[in-house]
Amino acid sequence: MGLGYRRWVSANLLREEPGPVLSESILQRIWFEQLVRNPLAAVTGEAIRLHHPGIWNHRPGPDFLRASFSGADGRIFTGDVEIHRHSSDWHAHRHSGNAAYGNVVLHAFWQANPMFSPEPPWEVRQVALEHQLSAPLTELISLFRSSPAEIQTGEKPGRCHPVLLALSPDKLGEFLEEAGWHRLRQRRALARARVVSFGLEQAVWVGLAEGLGFSENREPFAALARAVPVRNLLEIPDPIERAAILYGTAGLLPDPTRTKVSDGALPLLRRLWRLWWTKREDWRPYILPAGIWRLGGTRPNNSPFRRLAALVKISYQYDWQRLMETVRNGDADCFLRIFGSLSDEFWDRHAGWDGRILSSSSKLVGTDRAVALLFQVLAPLTELTEGELGARMENWPAGGDAGLLRSASVRLLGVPFPPPDVRTHLAREGLLQIYKDFCRAKPCSGCSMVEFLENR
Ligand code: SF4
Repeated sequence: MGLGYRRWVSANLLREEPGPVLSESILQRIWFEQLVRNPLAAVTGEAIRLHHPGIWNHRPGPDFLRASFSGADGRIFTGDVEIHRHSSDWHAHRHSGNAAYGNVVLHAFWQANPMFSPEPPWEVRQVALEHQLSAPLTELISLFRSSPAEIQTGEKPGRCHPVLLALSPDKLGEFLEEAGWHRLRQRRALARARVVSFGLEQAVWVGLAEGLGFSENREPFAALARAVPVRNLLEIPDPIERAAILYGTAGLLPDPTRTKVSDGALPLLRRLWRLWWTKREDWRPYILPAGIWRLGGTRPNNSPFRRLAALVKISYQYDWQRLMETVRNGDADCFLRIFGSLSDEFWDRHAGWDGRILSSSSKLVGTDRAVALLFQVLAPLTELTEGELGARMENWPAGGDAGLLRSASVRLLGVPFPPPDVRTHLAREGLLQIYKDFCRAKPCSGCSMVEFLENR
């Protein structure tokens, strides 16, 4: 039996070339389960203390997103992790120069390849795992026990999840809502500072752009909203002209004579390009640098091209005035209706200039994202008092960033989605706040949440 199992392991998980080399999916699993020594030694000898292995990414792009670790000098680094069988696979898989891998901070592989091969940029730490597992390999493989929900969300239940789940529904809800208020007050303070600096309209514009950028493209969207203030766009009634300025300044408008684009995209792209050509000199100082966007790894529905189309639509004078009114009044229903109605003949069905077509016509801003914008934009910037806002929020839908919420839920509560008692908008935001403040910043072993909950 033992021999048979060993043979199965050899045949299915190990490759003989010339020493045993693990398949990439098993290496990813080992990384996900954190079955490696901590600290790890980089190939340079530097000790790397792993705080979070990152979220397992099952889509194109790096294998783990938003990992964190500290280097020899104690500085904390956050970014993506790519896993390979050989060190040379970085080059073989053509990751150098691929923008989707521009945020990789750590390259982990089973064995260093003895043959020379170009390496990742010098600032990417390299780690050979072969002699750094936390237990013998066959033992580790038999320990794999991730549930489908854990694998799908890329997270594992943390140390405090039994304590949180043991709280009564009222206490759990109260604790999470407290964290939700903390998150909201921070946002309201930042929003007030922005209003003082550049006015309410521009603060709404920047907040919307950040929210539409998701975590992957939050910074480029914010940079674009600052480069192209909403005031300038509101003076332009023609949506094609607004689109030319936004896509052009974003650096997301390719020259149709030099770039291969789909036949379906060509007429629109040509129109935009002709207009952009006449405006480009005025906007040249503000054009975002190449490579700033993360285009790989985002779902087609969430592609930055589609989110930019939403900004083009909302910067139309009439729609913008309605939106500003709803923000001032804290009118969530009207806010959601406005975003639900944004539509574009081309971008409702496409995810990029290269012809990526969505499986079905899709709103520019889906319901989940629009609900997330309530908390990111409307709640921080409304003129309602905190008491009035709190009362209104009790009736807000509890949507939000579904992917992140699932990861937070697995980590903090050990279940793939918040239980029924955690369905208020504020409690879900609180769950995300704790996840971002604690779980993404350090490993459970260095976190005082369990002690805090027990003393509470
Ligand atoms: S990092 Fe802290 S808050 Fe997050 S799961 Fe671990 S113990 Fe809980």
